[in-house]
Amino acid sequence: MKIIGNASILTLGKKGFISDGAILIDGEVIKQIGTTEDLKNKFPDAEFIDAQHRLVMPGFLNAHMHLYSTFARGMALKGEPPKTFGEILKKLWWKLDKNLTTKEEIYYSAVVPLIEGIKTGTTAILDHHASFGLIDGSLDIIEKAVLDTGVRAALCYETSDRWGKEARDASIRENVRFIRKKQANTGAEPETLTAATFGMHASLTLSDETLEIAKGEADSLGVGFHIHVAEGEEDVEDSLKKSGVRVVERLQKFGILGDKTLAIHCIHINEKEIDILKETNTMVVHNPESNMNNAVGVAPILEFFKKGILTGIGTDGYTPSMFESVKVAYVLPKLHYGDPRVGGSESQKMLFENNRKIFAKFFNRPVGIIEEGAFADIIILDYFPPTPFNENNAFYHLIFGMRDNMVNTTIINGKVVMKDHKLTEINEEEIMAKAREVSKKFWEKMENE
Ligand SMILES: [Zn+2]
Repeated sequence: MKIIGNASILTLGKKGFISDGAILIDGEVIKQIGTTEDLKNKFPDAEFIDAQHRLVMPGFLNAHMHLYSTFARGMALKGEPPKTFGEILKKLWWKLDKNLTTKEEIYYSAVVPLIEGIKTGTTAILDHHASFGLIDGSLDIIEKAVLDTGVRAALCYETSDRWGKEARDASIRENVRFIRKKQANTGAEPETLTAATFGMHASLTLSDETLEIAKGEADSLGVGFHIHVAEGEEDVEDSLKKSGVRVVERLQKFGILGDKTLAIHCIHINEKEIDILKETNTMVVHNPESNMNNAVGVAPILEFFKKGILTGIGTDGYTPSMFESVKVAYVLPKLHYGDPRVGGSESQKMLFENNRKIFAKFFNRPVGIIEEGAFADIIILDYFPPTPFNENNAFYHLIFGMRDNMVNTTIINGKVVMKDHKLTEINEEEIMAKAREVSKKFWEKMENE
């Protein structure tokens, strides 16, 4: 047992903000919330973590991530810079995922952003993986990185037709194998830490046949999909050409949408498509920085909220930091709509409430909240508010006052994975040195292609 005491606790739950309190952790789970004195008296043998009046809150949840994207960092592209989203995919991402051919490359590209996530307060992610140079077993490699770092994650493989039928079949196989493995509950690892869903790239690289096969497999396994939707104009043009209907309608036709499905981005969609997302209870995930970086446009977030679509927030591999992502989600609608009144409540809801609801579909206890019975996924921040602080204005303290490097301690599944800014489970310097070595060879391989 552990007690986090002398803590300013932002619960994000019914208890609101507790200016001086304590949390009792029993194994993986939050057992009790009370006063420091009371919990210490009742549980004298529990390990005591003194928060020293720091801010204690639930860890951040990243609802869309690509751990495999790491080796693109700092990489120069040959030839003219890509001028459209389609060119970015072809010249950078599809080349990169095809060249991920070894276990080492997949492992180190994943473990780096997991470490960076821990350091910036992210305790759980929904990852979307692609390594077309090594498909079979790739999710086990990602899972090893996840378990080594102690982060909670739901994994999937990006099914696509872009590298031919054999690779398509292998990617479906990999999803099915990994989902079955998780459902069989046979692993020696803590089963509560990793989960699975069915990954698909995007309508523009998925044939009718592939959608049908994937739907059949997912139905028999009882899972939904994690798929990019109308991220660029290319997806819409392709869908109209292939099927005569727009992306959301095409996906609905094949039964891809639903309350277990994550529709990522949803930028180029019309009102009818927004209605379909609502009617099917499909979840949407917003990734503002990535969208701006790819110049694909701005998702109609205000419309999603008006319609009551469950909209969460992720980083799309652009950054491991949820601080970055939510700060941009906060300002982007103001600039986009020319209205300083919009964006605040929506970005707060995405981060503090909707991500929690989305993650609840993948894990058997709540995360993203400090309450009895929730998983003990908790961060302690070196943040001492200079102005009054409570549950109603905490989000604005986060936007204007909190930063990545204030995350002091990170606890996941009841385990302290970072203490006083230092990782407890792994040697960060060694990992980064090895990643530099592996990525250097990887870059040479990509250049010589
Ligand atoms: Zn993505």
